[in-house]
Order: sequence, then C-alpha cells, then structure tokens
Amino acid sequence: MLVTDGLIAAVDPTAKVEKLSAARKAEKVDVAGRVILPGFVDSHTHLIHAASRAEEYELKIRGVGYEEIARRGGGILNSVKKLRAASSSQLKRRARAALEVFAAHGTTTIEAKSGYGLDVASELKILSLHKELSAEQPIEIVSTFLGAHVVPAEFRSKKNGPDEYVKLLTDWLIPEVAANGLAEYCDVFCDRGAFSRGQSKQILEAGKQHKLAPRLHAEQLSHTGATRLAVELGAASCDHLEQINAADIRALAKSNTVAALLPGCDFHLGLKQYAPARKLIEAGAIVTLATDYNPGTSPTMSIPMILSLACTQLRMTPAEAVAAATINAAYSLSRHRRIGSLEVGKQADLAVFEVEDYREIPYYFGVNTCWLTMKNGQVIHAA
Ligand SMILES: [Zn+2]
Repeated sequence: MLVTDGLIAAVDPTAKVEKLSAARKAEKVDVAGRVILPGFVDSHTHLIHAASRAEEYELKIRGVGYEEIARRGGGILNSVKKLRAASSSQLKRRARAALEVFAAHGTTTIEAKSGYGLDVASELKILSLHKELSAEQPIEIVSTFLGAHVVPAEFRSKKNGPDEYVKLLTDWLIPEVAANGLAEYCDVFCDRGAFSRGQSKQILEAGKQHKLAPRLHAEQLSHTGATRLAVELGAASCDHLEQINAADIRALAKSNTVAALLPGCDFHLGLKQYAPARKLIEAGAIVTLATDYNPGTSPTMSIPMILSLACTQLRMTPAEAVAAATINAAYSLSRHRRIGSLEVGKQADLAVFEVEDYREIPYYFGVNTCWLTMKNGQVIHAA
C-alpha cells in the first residue's frame, strides 16, 4: 500500500507498489505477516461523561435491573448530575484518555453523542467539546445531539414537565445546536422510561428542519414502534433492536436505515436477549456494530471485543462483523466515500493486527491484538 498526503495512492502486491516512482522516496512501515484492516468506525458512542458507574455494576451483578437502578436515582440521571458538576477541562481530559484507548484498539473514527447534560449550557458544553477534540487530536469525531436521552429530574417533578422539555429541545436547543454547527445528527432514546414514539417524532422532525439527520435508540428495553418511525423518517440508523419483530426486520430490509447492533450493552448488563443479527442480515438489512461506549451499559472502547460478541452471541461471521464495523458503519455516518475500506483515493485510515488471519481478531476475545493504527497516513498508535 502506498500512502500519499494522507490518502491511499495504491493497493497492490509489494513488488508492484515498490516500482511506483512515488514509492522510492516513501518512508517504509514493514507489516509483514500481519493483517491490515480499514480503521474501525465506531458509529455509536457516548464519549463525554464525567465518571464511571462502577458502583452500579455490583448492584447489576446482584440482579437489580437497569430500570430499577434508574428509579433509585442511579442510571443516566446519576451521570447527568456528575457531568453538570464537572468542568470542561475535566471532561476533556477524560475524553482524550478514552480516545487514546479507542486508537489503541484500531478505531480511527467515532460518532459521539451528547445527552448527559440535559440543560442548555451543559448540552452545548458537550457538543463544543466534540468540536474542540476533533481539532486537537487525530480521531475523527462525528457529533450527534442527544438532548432527548431522558427527561431531566427538574422537568419530571413539574406538571406537563416532559412536554415542556420536548418544547425546550425543539424550539430552543435544536435551532441553537444547528446554528452553531455543533452536530450533524439528532438522536432520541425512544423507549419505556425515556421518550414516546410521538415525542420522538416531534424531536426528530424539528432536527430535520434544521438539517440534523435523524438517528434513533430503538427497541432496547421494550417494543415501541421506534424502528418503523426511524424508517418512516429516513433515519441514518436505528440502534439496539433487541426487541424488534418480523415486520420491523422487513421494513429495515427495504430501507436505507442502518440496523446498528450494540452487543456490548447486553453483555455488560448480563442480558440474554441479543438483537437478531442473522435475521436482519438474511432479510437484507444493512447491519453495523458499535461499542455504545458509555458509563452505564457498555463501558468499552474495544471494537475487537464487540467483534467477538458479534461472532459468538449474534452468530455473525468474522467477515460480516468486520464489514459491520468498517464500511457499513462509515455508510451510516455518510462517510463511506472517504473511509471504511482500503481503496485508492480513500483516507489512509487503517489498523494493523498482530495475527496471521483476520478471524483471529474476534477469536482472541478480550485480547487486544492491534499493533499499529494510522489516521490520514499518520501513525496514531504503535504497540
Ligand atoms: Zn447509546
């Protein structure tokens, strides 16, 4: 492979590439015997948060449910409280450390959602950090506004509070986010205990009016019809899908809306019901895999671990899993012409693994075999 100005200039057998005139002066990185893949595209993360929720981990192990923990003041609102109290520089330091871990596992692009602020100042603080971090470190960050994560505590106690919060999002925050170029996408957590299908529609339509393309957290805890809504709205992706039914699968298969599967979540929560990946793939849906990196339900930055779960729990083949975390994920972020595969003219975003066969990447579960990561032709991680 020959890389010029951060782009892939040639992909061919070594002897052929070495004959190219531009190759003669090129700096050589010998990866002999190892496996090179496109850099992973992690299309669903909650990058910015203030702290882990390790204290809830023990409760979960003892069998206390995710929703019960939320009722006890834990869960997302616990992270909201901590985020509001944290300074921008504290949040940035934590995110930068996480981004280095992403890079060390072969990831070169991530999507990142707000949603632990849930008030005007804090949501804007998170989205501004996406922008600053994009400029200050090598991993590309695609910003998504998730003001509709849950209804914040101060609106829950009020009569009509949830509807007032939706109005704050549609009439004030979405226009503000769009006017300042702080996000490309608008997302909603449409589920029991979060936002209804009707509210989700209202929020995502407001987003669309301001050129924020829709994404949706759909059918994770209960079946709400969110998948059908995502398809109706032409959403870029609908994510989770543990509870989808046959009609949803058919609708997804006929659409360009990507089915984003997040098995790290089910693994961490100890749930047995994973999304029906095989049925989705066999029906013809576009499937992606992502970490869903977040402090409550999926504290991992490792796409290789997600590939292992996809293979053993979702019964995806290693090749399907790799495609789901590279080119399909790039498509769901509207970047498939630029990243997601190793082709001439694309960005030199790649990851090299210390294995002899690409199937060994998911096969060695919980082991990081990433040996080198390159973004735009620059080495950003070397083991
Ligand atoms: Zn999520």
